[in-house]
Amino acid sequence: MPVSKDSFLAQLRRFDALSQISSLLSWDEQVNLPPNAASSKQRATQCAELSELVHREFTHPDFEEKLQQIEGQEVDEDWSVILREVRRDLDRATRLPSEFVARKAEHASVSYHVWKDARSRNDFASYAPALEKTLNLSRQEAAFIGFEDNPYDYHLDKHDPGMDVASISMLFDELQTGLIPLAERILELAEKVTMPELVGYPEDKQEIFLREVAQSLGFDFSRGRIDVAVHPFCSGNAADTRLTTRYNVNNPLDSLFGAIHETGHGLYEQGLPSKWWGTPLGEAAGMAVHESQSRIWENQVGRSQAFWNHWEPRFRELFPESLSGVSSKQLYLVVNKVARNPIRVEADEVTYNLHVILRFELEQALFNGDLKITELPDAWNAKAEKLLGLTPDNDTEGVLQDVHWSSGAFGYFPSYCLGNLLAAQLWDAAQQDQSSINEDMEAGQYKALLTWLGDKVHRHGRRLNLLQLAELATSQKLSSQALLKYLESRYLPLYETT
Ligand code: ZN
Repeated sequence: MPVSKDSFLAQLRRFDALSQISSLLSWDEQVNLPPNAASSKQRATQCAELSELVHREFTHPDFEEKLQQIEGQEVDEDWSVILREVRRDLDRATRLPSEFVARKAEHASVSYHVWKDARSRNDFASYAPALEKTLNLSRQEAAFIGFEDNPYDYHLDKHDPGMDVASISMLFDELQTGLIPLAERILELAEKVTMPELVGYPEDKQEIFLREVAQSLGFDFSRGRIDVAVHPFCSGNAADTRLTTRYNVNNPLDSLFGAIHETGHGLYEQGLPSKWWGTPLGEAAGMAVHESQSRIWENQVGRSQAFWNHWEPRFRELFPESLSGVSSKQLYLVVNKVARNPIRVEADEVTYNLHVILRFELEQALFNGDLKITELPDAWNAKAEKLLGLTPDNDTEGVLQDVHWSSGAFGYFPSYCLGNLLAAQLWDAAQQDQSSINEDMEAGQYKALLTWLGDKVHRHGRRLNLLQLAELATSQKLSSQALLKYLESRYLPLYETT
């Protein structure tokens, strides 16, 4: 009997349900797990069992046969996208032998602990052999998929379909040329400004504030939550979106901007078409597109003067004493503080992209054999000097700072910067299409922007890749021009008049 689209859809939704259970388990692990339960490894076993189950069923010949049957049928445009994307996922999943997947996962778990220990002791040499093995496994993975001659392209495409070394180099080279002198100018001005420390902000009041902000941006709490976790993240799907943040009484902006960032991810998830849940049309288009959605709310919206004109009175109402010696201008400067910092996750939005370019250039050199693992710390420091104008004091603040490589997540960093490029370009286009956006922000209204993003980005799911989406949404090819213009227009006047 021929397979119907309905039964195929039901099958896809079964895989999705299993993946959602897995995602909920890891959310629970990071939010709720009692400390001794964490050390029992029970949760790790549960997650491993589930992902093995999904992988086994997805790659089972029965499913492949169903897919082939549907591929032979006449289908509409939506279905052709679903079939194209399921085929891509299935081909990749079947090409990786399960023995290899298990070996890689096991090494990632060992390597994580070796990296963590090396970072705490500032001892890169003790981590180098594990990283060497991770790199080799990553090359093998690329070869299995068919990228033996250009393994780094595979890792870039894995995070952002359609992207490769050539296309990203073109974007980043252009960005770097404009950004290094611009960052220098802004840093020079910023170094002359003394900024107040924001200390003594009770956590319960911070929570009240960020919930009000998230709700006003459009986050639907009737199908989403915000909890506390060590590292902020967003998981779940449109029907049940889970965000996290963290609180520090002496850094209220960390929890606030962490929450706005994750709210942006959450708004994307909540905006994906519910009609297509469980299929590629109900899933995000890739890491960079996801990141563009978090960054546009965090930076273009959350750090704008219009946003603070509306929210400052409420912020002062909640923290009257802590803010009593801080003027409006000072508060806005702290929100937009720019400073040299060796640590990527602490970097401001002006210098952040240079941190990403540093990693992209090093990953390329590692994959094409120009750089040995043992040479990595020196190469890191040299690039930091060239791009950021600083040399980290030690490897803990340099080459050992990020968790990504320990799990083999090569090719992940560029997505952050590509997301920033897209965010700036979307911001320009949204303002051209919806002239009321700025005025609305002064009044604490964000509906026009959210609706615009829903139409141009969210509703497409995986229909378009990063470059296609950028061009369709903004009528321009993805480039660094909008980001450079945005950074210049926000930061130069701010610091020139201080
Ligand atoms: Zn993010």
